[in-house]
Amino acid sequence: MTQNLTLTGIQWGDEGKGKIVDFLAARFDAIVRFQGGNNAGHTIVVGGTTFKLSSIPSGILTPKKLNVIGGGTVLDPWAFLQEMSHLAQLGIDISPQNLVIADNTPLILPVHKALDALREKAAGDSKIGTTLRGIGPAYEDKVGRRSIRVADLTDSTTLRSMIDHLYQHHNIWRRGMGEDELDPQQVFQDLIKIAPEIVRFAQPAWRRLDEIQSNGGSILFEGAQGALLDIEYGSYPFVTSSSTLPGAAASGGGLGPGRLGHILGICKAYCTRVGAGPFPSEISDEMGAFLAAKGHERGTVTGRPRRCGWFDAVLARQVCKIAGVNSLALTKLDVLQGIDELKVCTAYELDGQTIDYFPTSPQEQARLKPIFESLPTWREPIEMAQELPTHARQYIARIEEWVGIPISLLSISPKREDTLILTQDF
Ligand code: GDP
Repeated sequence: MTQNLTLTGIQWGDEGKGKIVDFLAARFDAIVRFQGGNNAGHTIVVGGTTFKLSSIPSGILTPKKLNVIGGGTVLDPWAFLQEMSHLAQLGIDISPQNLVIADNTPLILPVHKALDALREKAAGDSKIGTTLRGIGPAYEDKVGRRSIRVADLTDSTTLRSMIDHLYQHHNIWRRGMGEDELDPQQVFQDLIKIAPEIVRFAQPAWRRLDEIQSNGGSILFEGAQGALLDIEYGSYPFVTSSSTLPGAAASGGGLGPGRLGHILGICKAYCTRVGAGPFPSEISDEMGAFLAAKGHERGTVTGRPRRCGWFDAVLARQVCKIAGVNSLALTKLDVLQGIDELKVCTAYELDGQTIDYFPTSPQEQARLKPIFESLPTWREPIEMAQELPTHARQYIARIEEWVGIPISLLSISPKREDTLILTQDF
């Protein structure tokens, strides 16, 4: 029996998680999203077709797998239906046979998207740079115990009064901001119209997963965003609104901490970040622009250019300890082939002292100066795990040494088949 696997991005997201989940999906029986929402943008290339997944797990491209949108996520029902019809156009059929939505999943409603946009506008230069998809406000309502959840769509009387309660709360805030009030009746009618299309997928997902486990099946938990955007350990406040660390899979998936299995951390061979926030190893000269162009570094969800930097071994080591990572998948190594210089951030200088960790205070984070080590580059393309160019092999070995975690997978192109297995750790 394959042991379970929990996959987590260990940088600022966009590490290529979707590609690795898709590569591994054939080995598992179920693939579970456990946090975040359609702020995720997982790009997967299979047989010449490019798929972009947001709410739906990346196992959907592999036939006969159960994909679960877990209760720890937040779901925009309209965006979900659009994603489903887009996938149908690309030949991927989605039915309750291959997709379950946990019935305790909170919904993202138009009021959340409106609030996201208003907040970012009001914040001016100090905006977070959210995807404007309403994710943060939807999580706030979950914690505020006001959410409409998938199970609530089955009872129109209760649904109506829950929507009234939610909109009452938001309209107080909107009046304060000098904004028009939103109409609960409108959203109620819109929701009732699509409710059957959502409810047909709804189940207590934990029961399905428990059944799969009891029958000897195995489960892959698919993280979204990245550990440096985690609400607790990320570069707060420039973070996402959920816990992106593997521990969140236990509650957000509904199987418990003992069943997370191997923890696979995904990182790019360099670093990128979308939106505002600290980025100690950022490259501000033309090398940054070169990596961005060669690596096609544009946000899948927002289309915004991603900032580029060298691999930050300090952050990677810190995150791997916090997340309990067992092995790493290193992606986009091909982007570094043929470059003229190659550096890794191995420590920081803070007020004249060398430190080997990322401090918590944003003021200290802003004063960090990266300490880089240069490594030799390589010109030969990478094709096979057995025949890595010497300097590529050296780069991989140094990363393993700095981070203290073995690299088990290498990704050398967006394509599913261009994934090299270095060690069979899981
Ligand atoms: P995710 O959100 O972590 O799944 O990452 P994204 O899909 O937002 O961004 C990763 C991008 O890199 C996508 O366009 C992938 O197709 C692409 N990609 C993934 N792995 C590789 C790789 O090894 N090499 C190259 N060149 N591109 C890759």
